[in-house]
Amino acid sequence: EERIVAGGEQEADSWQYSLRPRRLAEYIGQDQVKNNLSIFIQATLARGEALDHVLLYGPPGLGKTTLAGIIAVELGVNFRITSGPAVERPGDLAALLTNLGEKDVLFIDEIHRLSRSVEEILYSAMEDYALDIIIGKGPSARSIRLDLPKFTLVGATTRAGALAAPLRDRFGVICRLEYYTTEHLECIVNRAAEILNVRIDSLGAREIARRSRGTPRIANRLLKRVRDFAQVTGDGVITNAVADKALALLEVDQLGLDKIDRSLLKTIIKNFNGGPVGLDTLAAAISEETDTIEDVYEPFLLQMGFIARTPRGRVATPTAYAHLNIPYKESNQE
Ligand code: ADP
Repeated sequence: EERIVAGGEQEADSWQYSLRPRRLAEYIGQDQVKNNLSIFIQATLARGEALDHVLLYGPPGLGKTTLAGIIAVELGVNFRITSGPAVERPGDLAALLTNLGEKDVLFIDEIHRLSRSVEEILYSAMEDYALDIIIGKGPSARSIRLDLPKFTLVGATTRAGALAAPLRDRFGVICRLEYYTTEHLECIVNRAAEILNVRIDSLGAREIARRSRGTPRIANRLLKRVRDFAQVTGDGVITNAVADKALALLEVDQLGLDKIDRSLLKTIIKNFNGGPVGLDTLAAAISEETDTIEDVYEPFLLQMGFIARTPRGRVATPTAYAHLNIPYKESNQE
């Protein structure tokens, strides 16, 4: 079963598209990114040029795709969308690029997953707005250069570090999205509730916001599940008590941790005396892939200060002990 508190997109999340803000002014939070983009967009419009290529990075569910769409709307151009794994061969990318209009936005999600051969033709496309295509084979092969419209590439990735340096260097604007504050998530929950015609009071919204791991996609998901609960067991209004009961049933705790998070922390504490424990050892102990731990579980636990990375492995912090009601002994960790 899929985790309700996972930031990544799940099949059942497509209903959330209707909640996507369309304009920069409607996009809640991420103030610094918004301010920067707003200036770049205005300057670009004033010059009548295509916007520089933009790289958006940060954990899943924070609004990268949403922001890319907004950039296109604000620029008044078409928005084309694809993803790293979907662009299999150089020809696929060539087809996308040659179909763009002047100044259009091409969004490539999970851009770190482009293959090497595709990435290489992207370089000249980004830099010179041209494609170098090899025609024919052997001694008669020759290269022709195809001009492209001036376009804006918006790339999204969960890990900027996974991008090859030559690709990263071709983005003029690099924006890092941060986890949202509870206040901003509260606004997002209230906005979604209004669009979905869900009745919610301010403490109900705050409770959902607090337990959404700083992530709008999770906030929307929790809102929908809590609404069902409110309809079936109450009068349909989401109050603090209703939200609290529903989220307890879903095993999402006060700070948004679920069973898997808690078991990961307990494993470090109980089996490894609080750590440090190496990532591989930890992965084996909870039967997970190391990548899944690093990409899916760890970012939020690090952000919350429940675990720390040390040169010798992962460590459970006193905050984690306190959250799990386990007494912390200094001698646990040397
Ligand atoms: P990502 O591409 O980073 O995984 P999305 O752009 O798909 O995330 O965002 C997930 C959902 O969260 C969207 O469908 C939208 O409803 C909501 N959302 C994201 N960012 C915001 C925001 N700043 N304000 C309001 N809703 C947002």
